[in-house]
Amino acid sequence: TYQRSRAMSGIVIIGAGQAGASLAITLRAKGYKGDVTLIGEEPVPPYQRPPLSKKYLLGDMALDRLYLRPSDFYTEQLISLRLNCQVTTINCAENTISIGDETLTYEHLALTTGSSPRRLPAAIGGTLNGVFAVRSLADVDAMQPAFERGGHVLIIGGGYIGLEAAAVAAAKGLQVTLVEMANRILQRVACTETSDYFRALHESHGVRILEGVGLERLTGEGNVTGAILSNGKALEINFAIVGVGILPATNLAEAAGVTLNNGIETNSQGQTSVSNVWAAGDCASFPYQGRRIRLESVPNAIDQAEVVAANMLGAAQDYIATPWFWSDQFGVKLQIAGLNTGFTDIIVRNSGSARSHWYYNSNTLLAVDAMNDPRAYMVAKRLIEAGKSADPIIVTNPQSDLKMLLQG
Ligand code: FAD
Repeated sequence: TYQRSRAMSGIVIIGAGQAGASLAITLRAKGYKGDVTLIGEEPVPPYQRPPLSKKYLLGDMALDRLYLRPSDFYTEQLISLRLNCQVTTINCAENTISIGDETLTYEHLALTTGSSPRRLPAAIGGTLNGVFAVRSLADVDAMQPAFERGGHVLIIGGGYIGLEAAAVAAAKGLQVTLVEMANRILQRVACTETSDYFRALHESHGVRILEGVGLERLTGEGNVTGAILSNGKALEINFAIVGVGILPATNLAEAAGVTLNNGIETNSQGQTSVSNVWAAGDCASFPYQGRRIRLESVPNAIDQAEVVAANMLGAAQDYIATPWFWSDQFGVKLQIAGLNTGFTDIIVRNSGSARSHWYYNSNTLLAVDAMNDPRAYMVAKRLIEAGKSADPIIVTNPQSDLKMLLQG
């Protein structure tokens, strides 16, 4: 019947971000000839988010360099890119999705919906004008005028996004206060040594960092003009940036009956609990070395989406994640290899302006934070990927050539 033939029509991808674009591009690169529809609710073609809190916010990167591909690319590749379109429901039994009144049919569906920033409740001033999140291009364009006007900015949250925004604000000459509720900045993601390094870096550039201090509420009428902190102190501010983490975008999947488990649950091949529905990127959790993880990074979005594309075409390939991440603050390039979960020891390597923190679980090397030390990063990444450790005596000696660790 017409219904049935329509039901075998191509691949629909919900979410035109890093993972969605990577998936569509890979399908064509692998020679897939069917329909590919890439649907995004944002008004712009897929772009890279990392510069939003770094070079783009600083004004050092033009808008067109954010885009992953020029718009023409999608037309040439016969990828139907639907922008400004929010998918409102998925019907797994019928193999359809809807965008308002419109219904599309799929053979395979990919969920690459990313994540959304945690917001502050309206009751504590979270919806006042001048309170900004840092997730989308629209978010960052909205805060740009406040950066230009200058004054005092309060950053709520001492994770990577908050610290990067603080660094840009300080570089632009603003007065910057950052509050972190936990005992130290980066507590959720890094060792004390890395927190100490970045605290000192920020303080040397005039950023005021308050740790173990939460936000009680933001104040103002219409516009935010002040903040009351958990230690009772009141601040006068011109605007606020909220960087208190993200939540995987799972609403659509949940409503469609797709199993969730720290995001959308996928198996080692990126397949969800529904066999022709797949997920990749920030929204998806997957098996990793005997546990289940979800990564919030560009390399994960790209690599996982590439594996999903191959598997939609029948490759039956496992996704073997090789976690890595980076951050830029005040000219310091931080590169992270591996996952530090469960570390017991930290070995510090100090050689001039290059510094690295090596995370071990007793004798096993888990991860490295490398600050302005691309060689330590590169060596550690190769060791971790090969399942090898690193002799702490070689690591701590600044005279030793780390490449020795790769031999044998
Ligand atoms: P996204 O890129 O967020 O794409 C998801 C898209 O789906 C969004 O455009 C969303 O609007 C859309 N969508 C959701 N629901 C629907 C729907 N129902 N209908 C239509 N569209 C929908 N990672 C690094 O590795 N290094 C960094 O230095 C780094 N810096 C970062 C800095 C910032 C400011 C931010 C915000 C992130 C940063 N990240 C960094 C993280 C990285 O950008 C993300 O991990 C990556 O973008 C995830 O890709 P994704 O495709 O899963 O999600």
